[in-house]
Amino acid sequence: MQLRQPESLEAATAALGNGSRALAGGTELVPLLRSRLVEADTLVDVRAVVPRGVQGTTIGAGTMLAELESDPEIPAALREACALAASPQLRSMGTIGGNLLQATRCWYWRLNYPCFLHGGSVCHAREGAHRDHAIFGNERCASAHPSDPAAALLALGATLRTDRRSFPVGDLYRLPTEDDRDVTALEAGELILELDVPRPEASTYLKAMERNRFSFALVGVAAVRTGDATRIALAGVAPIPWLLSGPEELDRATPLPGTAYKVDLARPLVRRALEALG
Ligand SMILES: Cc1cc2nc3c(=O)[nH]c(=O)nc-3n(C[C@H](O)[C@H](O)[C@H](O)COP(=O)(O)OP(=O)(O)OC[C@H]3O[C@@H](n4cnc5c(N)ncnc54)[C@H](O)[C@@H]3O)c2cc1C
Ligand code: SF4
Repeated sequence: MQLRQPESLEAATAALGNGSRALAGGTELVPLLRSRLVEADTLVDVRAVVPRGVQGTTIGAGTMLAELESDPEIPAALREACALAASPQLRSMGTIGGNLLQATRCWYWRLNYPCFLHGGSVCHAREGAHRDHAIFGNERCASAHPSDPAAALLALGATLRTDRRSFPVGDLYRLPTEDDRDVTALEAGELILELDVPRPEASTYLKAMERNRFSFALVGVAAVRTGDATRIALAGVAPIPWLLSGPEELDRATPLPGTAYKVDLARPLVRRALEALG
């Protein structure tokens, strides 16, 4: 395997695609390479070319989660989502760009079962062990999206800028279909460069976990108020971050037998998050 360390964006984008992968903090990619869930002949270290840091409402995709959790200029929902993600060590290596593109934690997928998301015909979790899995959008793949910051950014109405285009963070994600098993809409070799995150009047992120530290969300709730408008987005409930039209949408959840408890977890979390907005 080759490691490239380009010094310009042009050189980085030229090196991406054709069997290569972008490498930022490596906290997600390196374990996936080790377990052969990702194959790559070249790693392109993008840390010198992807912007890092915060300027006004713009966040460089190379900014570490640890930098975001301690910056008072960052909206509370995103700050709190970063602070509740992973461990301090991982947050000081892991970037926000890499976090948005992390793969599912579904144990069948991580053990390389030939499931629907790996291109097969069945979702093993639906019939098997699925306690951590989805309550929405789970018809074909019942995985639960693991990113806390993604739910916060969805509720905040953030926009992504890549080396090719700009689009709302909600458009980064898609439910897998028969024809396309990917859960993101990024093109091959496309680099996320920056996020534009509007400043709301109030926002918060609440997270239910197995442990108080270093645990993926059973349910994460981001709530954001701007003027009369309120947006709610959930982590850990669907194969992608889930924009909730309102608390009543929880009545229309489609939990599996082992995930019905997540609906009961989400209700008070959503209520508390909305109360916190004032
Ligand atoms: C044990 C553990 C616990 C965790 N717990 C949580 C948690 O509770 N909540 C949570 O939200 N997250 C959690 N995470 C995920 C963690 O936050 C991510 O691993 C980290 O943010 C990824 O960032 P990175 O820079 O290391 O990405 P990398 O590993 O370098 O890359 C990840 C992916 O993104 C791609 N990529 C990276 N940067 C770019 C870019 N700029 N443009 C295009 N593609 C890019 C890479 O090619 C790769 O596919 C956990 C991770 C671990 C290992
Ligand atoms: S939940 Fe998704 S990733 Fe897990 S076994 Fe089912 S199809 Fe595969």
